[in-house]
Amino acid sequence: MTNISATIVLNKGKEQSLKRFHPWVFSGAIKKISDEVKEGDLVRVVSNNNEFLGIGHFQIGSIAVRILSFTDQLIDRNFWLGRLQEALNLRSSLGLLNNEHTNVFRLVHGEGDGLPGLIVDFYNGTAVYQAHTVGMYLIRHELSVLLKELMGEQLVAVYDKSEKTLPFKADIEPVNGYLLGESAPTIVAEYGNRFQVDWVDGQKTGFFVDQRENRHLVKEYSKGRDVLNMFCYSGGFSFCALQGGAQTVHSVDASAKAIELTRTNVELNYPNDARHEAFVADAFDFMRDIKDKYDLIILDPPAFAKHRNALHQALQAYKRLNARAFEQVRSGGIVFTFSCSQVVSKDKFREAVFSGAAISGRKVRILHQLTQPADHPVNIYHPEGEYLKGLVLYVD
Ligand code: SAH
Repeated sequence: MTNISATIVLNKGKEQSLKRFHPWVFSGAIKKISDEVKEGDLVRVVSNNNEFLGIGHFQIGSIAVRILSFTDQLIDRNFWLGRLQEALNLRSSLGLLNNEHTNVFRLVHGEGDGLPGLIVDFYNGTAVYQAHTVGMYLIRHELSVLLKELMGEQLVAVYDKSEKTLPFKADIEPVNGYLLGESAPTIVAEYGNRFQVDWVDGQKTGFFVDQRENRHLVKEYSKGRDVLNMFCYSGGFSFCALQGGAQTVHSVDASAKAIELTRTNVELNYPNDARHEAFVADAFDFMRDIKDKYDLIILDPPAFAKHRNALHQALQAYKRLNARAFEQVRSGGIVFTFSCSQVVSKDKFREAVFSGAAISGRKVRILHQLTQPADHPVNIYHPEGEYLKGLVLYVD
């Protein structure tokens, strides 16, 4: 498909992380680039002693190269086909292919599938392709055709949704649209629950696939409880709580569209269920005065920190948010709390939640430590890939 455009030579000592298979080359590690390169080009990376280290996509920014292969091989049709096949094999071994109860899953999870810069979510026949690098954007048509080749009739359409995820748009001006076939917003199933998913207008690729197992766990804790699902988006946690036998469920989101979607989805699964109410509101406002109103509170905010320089503020926000929940949840209550910011480590998140607990002065115990599901695998050499962190806490 593409040929190697240039060789990138690293500064002395900067080859160490690549030798441990970490797939990123930071711009500060680069000594020289042999030829002119454009964003999205394939480049070879060598050490200061000209030792081969890897081949990857070049990008302008702090991560200059994302390594695709640590062996010196041709990055051709067979290479991509092999990587996609491996991704499919994993989902197949997880029981996610041809599964009538759950037909929404992540098919490609970037570094976790040896395909840095690429996310593909599968929605009951439609794959939503999201490129986070120019390299992955440029080969979108080729990869769609290969996906079709591998999935056959199971794949009806591939929709590209890279408009907002590409860092440098100047030269390529991406426009979202179908790469292959066509499909309409559809209803998907997750553990038998049904969701309306709209990849064209919805947030992210249309759905927060990564909370599947955690939503499932909420069912276990919902019986007889008054539940607050804060940052509900399309309402997944809400109807898991209804399914689990909650007494009442309140869904809150700042987006009116999200609340509309939540109502549609709750209606789809639990028509005319008076236990559920949904509110358009800011989380911090809504949680100002909820003392002893709820005995299960779910906090699944958006990534408060998208970049490293926003880290401090993000940790403060997690602390304040969690403090409000701990201060006000009923005695014997449960708090499910999450962070999906990649730059917030598991330990930092925990510290923020601990500080929130300390502010409340309540006795708080950890019942579960949660993460992303298996179709969002973490490459062991790339710990940054473990981005979703959650705690389930018991408040005496
Ligand atoms: N829990 C959801 C995903 C949550 S995504 C699920 O399982 O699908 C985060 C949501 O937070 C988005 O829907 C966004 O609209 C909402 N949001 C962002 N800022 C907010 C705020 N200040 N108050 C309330 N909701 C907010």
